[in-house]
Amino acid sequence: MNHAFRADMHCHTTCSDGTFTPQELLKHAHDRSLQGLSITDHDTVESYLEALPIAESLGIQLVSGVEFSTMHQGVSVHVLAYGFSTENPLILNFCEKHAKRRIERNRAILDRIYKYHSVRITEDDLIQGNKNKGTFGRPHIAQAMVQRGLAISIQDAFHRFLGEGHCCFEPGDTVDVEQTLECIHAANGKAVIAHPHLINNHSIVNQLTEMPFDGIEVYYARFTEVQVKRWKKLAEKKGWFMTGGSDFHGSVKPHNPLGASWAPESTFEFLLKHYQTNLLNVAVS
Ligand code: AMP
Ligand code: ZN
Ligand code: FE
Ligand code: FE
Repeated sequence: MNHAFRADMHCHTTCSDGTFTPQELLKHAHDRSLQGLSITDHDTVESYLEALPIAESLGIQLVSGVEFSTMHQGVSVHVLAYGFSTENPLILNFCEKHAKRRIERNRAILDRIYKYHSVRITEDDLIQGNKNKGTFGRPHIAQAMVQRGLAISIQDAFHRFLGEGHCCFEPGDTVDVEQTLECIHAANGKAVIAHPHLINNHSIVNQLTEMPFDGIEVYYARFTEVQVKRWKKLAEKKGWFMTGGSDFHGSVKPHNPLGASWAPESTFEFLLKHYQTNLLNVAVS
C-alpha cells in the first residue's frame, strides 16, 4: 500500500475536453490512491457541482481549480487558478464570458471548415459526439473532423487544419493575462503559470515573471529533470509556490495518466486551507 501523499492538481473532465465525467475521474483518482485533486477544466468550474459530494464520499480532498485560456502578445498562455469559491460570481461571470467567446469562435471555425472543405459540422455534432456539457473547443471540433473523415486523428486535424496558421484556425476574441490575474485575485484565488515549457518564447516567459502570479507548475507529466530544475529555480527566485499535475484528459491524451505528476504536499495543504477559508467566508456573508 502506498501512503505517500499525492495530489494531482491539473486534470480535465467532460465539462471541457477530457473524456472522463467528474464522477469517473474521482473514481479513477481513488483507484490510483490519490489523496488530493484539483479539477482544472478549461474556462469552466461546472464539474464541481457533481464532483464535490463524490469527492467527500470517497475521502478525496478537492481544491477548486480552473485553467483559463489567455493570450499575451499573440502567444497562448494557460493560467491555472486555485482556491476560490466555485460559486464566486466574479469567477462565474468570467467563465460565462469565455463560454460566449468560445461559441462565437467555434462557429467561425465550423464556417471555415465548410468554406474550405465543404463539410458542414454543426454545434450539435460537437455535443453529441462528446457527451460534453461545459466548454467546447478545438479538440471537440478535431474529433468531429475525424468522425466525418476529414482527418485520421485529433493530432492530424490540428496539424493540417486547426493549428495556428492553418486554414481553419480562428483566434476569436482573446482574454489577456493581466485581466485574468485581476479576476482571480478579486475572487481571492491564487494564480499559477501552467506548463511553462509550452511557452517556447523566452521574452514572453520573462514578461510573465514580472506579473503578479502566486505560483508556477513545476511538476508536469512530461517535464524532464532539467525542466523541473529551471522552473523550480524561478519559483524560488520569485517566492512563488510550486504546483504539479498530470494534465490528464482521459483517452484523448493517453500519455498523461492521472497522478503522473503531483504537487508538493505543502502546496496542496496551503491551497486547501485557502479554499476552505474562502468557503467559510461565503457561508457567513
Ligand atoms: P482551444 O482552447 O479550443 O484553443 O483548444 C486548445 C486545446 O487543444 C489545448 O488545451 C490542447 O488540449 C489541445 N491541443 C492543442 N494543440 C493540439 C495538438 N496539436 N494536438 C492535439 N491537441 C491539441
Ligand atoms: Zn485540454
Ligand atoms: Fe493547458
Ligand atoms: Fe490542461
